[in-house]
Amino acid sequence: MNTCQMCEQPNEIGGILCTGCTKATVVRLESLPALHRGLAPFLQPVGGIGAGRSGKGGPAPLPVNEEILDLRGPGGLVGAAERWLDDVRRDRGHAAITPSGGVEARLRAAVDGLLSEMAWIALSWPSAGYFAKDIRDLVNSVRSIIAPVPAVEAGQRVGNCPAVVQPAGTLCGAVLRLAPGEKALRCQWCGTAYPPYVWAQLKVWIDEDAKARDAA
Ligand SMILES: [Zn+2]
Ligand SMILES: [Zn+2]
Repeated sequence: MNTCQMCEQPNEIGGILCTGCTKATVVRLESLPALHRGLAPFLQPVGGIGAGRSGKGGPAPLPVNEEILDLRGPGGLVGAAERWLDDVRRDRGHAAITPSGGVEARLRAAVDGLLSEMAWIALSWPSAGYFAKDIRDLVNSVRSIIAPVPAVEAGQRVGNCPAVVQPAGTLCGAVLRLAPGEKALRCQWCGTAYPPYVWAQLKVWIDEDAKARDAA
């Protein structure tokens, strides 16, 4: 009987990873681009928002988190995904791919490449266990930074959109509601999307904006 290289449980289907660990790895891979985007607000909570807030006594800039910089940088999530894809392609005898585009496009491409090889990885790749564990650890390290998700009900009025609308640099301020059946809050006015992993940060901004409005 085979043993799954990730969970070390008996693996009836054979191969390197069991069905559960294969599925979990697919879900983790698919979440990487969203997790990468989800880190952005934590990296530049105020810097990206501009003078529109600081002039009104908005929140002071939070210190830049080095760990987030590392994860979002070329060596972080995208670097890990590209290295694993390189290894897979090498072991399959495929030519290496030269990454191109911005970090988000490269991460998407590397994730898509890994997903397309997932069946072979789970069945035949001797490194599948290390790969699956590394992806799990990456996802967990991002999740540990991103705050826990506050409960938001469909239709609930969450607050006013804290996005800054360029070029005027003014706060959007439209009412945010979670549409029924949606997982992310999307501002109907400026189009900014707020997935659940940024809701804790979103709440902080909304509260700060409300305080600034009350004080004005
Ligand atoms: Zn397993
Ligand atoms: Zn908005």
